[in-house]
Amino acid sequence: MNLSVDSDTSADIGLAWNHGFAALGPDFYTELRPTPLPSPHWVGTSADVARLIGLDPAELQRDEALQAFTGNTLLTGSRPLASVYSGHQFGVWAGQLGDGRAILLGETASGYEVQLKGAGRTPYSRMGDGRAVLRSSIREFLCSEAMHGLGIPTSRALCITGSPGPVRREEVETAAVVTRVAPSFVRFGHFEHFAANGLEAQLKQLADYVIDRYYPECRGTTELDGNAYAALLQAVSERTARLMAQWQAVGFCHGVMNTDNMSILGLTIDYGPFQFLDAFIPGHICNHSDTQGRYAYNRQPNVAYWNMFCLAQALMPLIGDEELARAALESYKAVFPQEFMARMRAKLGLASPREQDGELIDAILLLLARNGVDYTIFWRRLSHAVGNSDFEPVRDLFADREAFDAWLLSYSELPVLDNQALAANLMLKTNPKFVLRNHLGEQAIRAAKLGDFSEFQTLQRLLERPFDEHPGHDAYAAFPPDWASSIEISCSS
Ligand code: AMP
Ligand code: MG
Repeated sequence: MNLSVDSDTSADIGLAWNHGFAALGPDFYTELRPTPLPSPHWVGTSADVARLIGLDPAELQRDEALQAFTGNTLLTGSRPLASVYSGHQFGVWAGQLGDGRAILLGETASGYEVQLKGAGRTPYSRMGDGRAVLRSSIREFLCSEAMHGLGIPTSRALCITGSPGPVRREEVETAAVVTRVAPSFVRFGHFEHFAANGLEAQLKQLADYVIDRYYPECRGTTELDGNAYAALLQAVSERTARLMAQWQAVGFCHGVMNTDNMSILGLTIDYGPFQFLDAFIPGHICNHSDTQGRYAYNRQPNVAYWNMFCLAQALMPLIGDEELARAALESYKAVFPQEFMARMRAKLGLASPREQDGELIDAILLLLARNGVDYTIFWRRLSHAVGNSDFEPVRDLFADREAFDAWLLSYSELPVLDNQALAANLMLKTNPKFVLRNHLGEQAIRAAKLGDFSEFQTLQRLLERPFDEHPGHDAYAAFPPDWASSIEISCSS
């Protein structure tokens, strides 16, 4: 097989392309070709995402698409590039980073950027090989689709292709490419890059691009002295705060909240050592490489705020007034608690806010933590209990039953629960039955490594609709097995 991309042939799968990011100019990226991989095969596809970007899902069975989404041929009209960004990693300025293994093909006419992750080295690969392994690609694909199923803003995953091509990590694994899509993959780190290098014209160009395309309401605002860049900072603060509220409410730990992994659109991006909580342990650290616990579950909202400061710093040359920047950041502090409370109220089935809700929520979170209760199972069982008035299965989750009974008394006395059917209905649409627990991902990965993608497909189907009951699949909603706690997920991917 010829392993160089043939520039004369390109695959036409019916996608029309725009190149808004590329139009920013060469200071923002390097144009390059993906590096081919031998003998690719399909691992997984999403018909839903295909339709989203205007692709006929049937294309995802054809060899043209297989070769193109592995990076072995170019898609007609695409213009591959790797973008440059910088960032703070684990609280320390890391200097220049960039798309070290992701290659942007362009954006579809429907407005989605399409990236191949793991498509080979770029000028920003530093010591990396530009590849992604099957294991981490399966995790990224499934979690993107799981988050979307949960209603949480995220990049999406169109497909994974695998290849027998070897990739060296702790051991030798095989390569895979995830094709991921989002309206934009611009990160806080893109802004930090131009600010840190004193490239103010480019910084302004990037900010204007992001505002015009994604935050047009920031122009002509009367708030914040009509300063569009302060308005952008405020809008990003609000979206980021809302995202954090959703992560916390569902028990999602990202694992690597470096500023280069923070989306300017408030999307969940760059799935690495993420985890959905099993037992509710507020200080849980999901990234084996995060020895200090900087990105522990309960620190995420504060870390996001810290990251917002980095973005504010980067935008200062454009905002020009520290007071305005501070005012824009303030919105994070207002929106996060408000959104978090709204999410938690919904989890409890409380349709309208009351003053005592905060106490009730704090009390149950404290009980869950003290008793090490499984987070997802608790909320799902509570949802059913509200519907059928049988709280025993919930009570069974607590070692300290008396403490739970006391809490239940204050909860079940709420007038809102008078309409149990209504409350239960809200709860069952808020508290998922299925989340991508580490051990479930691990089972799908083990099977996939042996060439069996059925577990992957089953999980995909369940996670796309995590609030449905899916009869016959209760095992996927059960407690994690003992071996789950020994799974170590690090930055290695
Ligand atoms: P992450 O924390 O995984 O988002 O990655 C941080 C930086 O390292 C980004 O600039 C990535 O593009 C880069 N990177 C991670 N893994 C690799 C790899 N295998 N090859 C090249 N670059 C990589
Ligand atoms: Mg990253």
